[in-house]
Amino acid sequence: MNLKERFLRFMAGRYGSDQLSRFLSFLALALIVLNLFLRSGILWLLGVAALVLVHLRMFSRSYEKRRRENERYLQLKYKLTGGVRNWADRQKQRRDYVFFRCPACHAMLRVPRGKGRIRVTCRKCGNAFERKT
Ligand SMILES: [Zn+2]
Repeated sequence: MNLKERFLRFMAGRYGSDQLSRFLSFLALALIVLNLFLRSGILWLLGVAALVLVHLRMFSRSYEKRRRENERYLQLKYKLTGGVRNWADRQKQRRDYVFFRCPACHAMLRVPRGKGRIRVTCRKCGNAFERKT
C-alpha cells in the first residue's frame, strides 16, 4: 500500500474539510503570524487551539454533528456579511432612493427619492403610513 492509499483508507468515514475548517485554519494562521509581532502567549495558544480543532473536526467520524457545526457557521457568516452587503447596497442606491424602517414591523423599506409626501404600504406587514421622500 502506498502512502496515498493509506491516507485514503485512514480518511474513509471521516468528516474531512469544510468551510468552517478553512475559516479556522485561516484564523489559526492569522493568530500565529500576529503572534510573531506581538509575542503574546495567548495569541499563540488560541492559534494552536484553532489548529487542533481543525484537525479534530477533519478526522471526526461524527459526520452529522460536524455538518451541523458547519451549517451554523455558514448561517452566522451569512448574517454578518449579508448585513454589510445590504448596507453597501443601500449606500449605492441612496441617490435615487430613501431607506427607512416600517414603524410597525421594522422591515427595511425603499421608496424613490424626491416624490414629496407619499403614502407607503409596507410590503411585509401591510401597514400603511405617510412619509416624506
Ligand atoms: Zn411593516
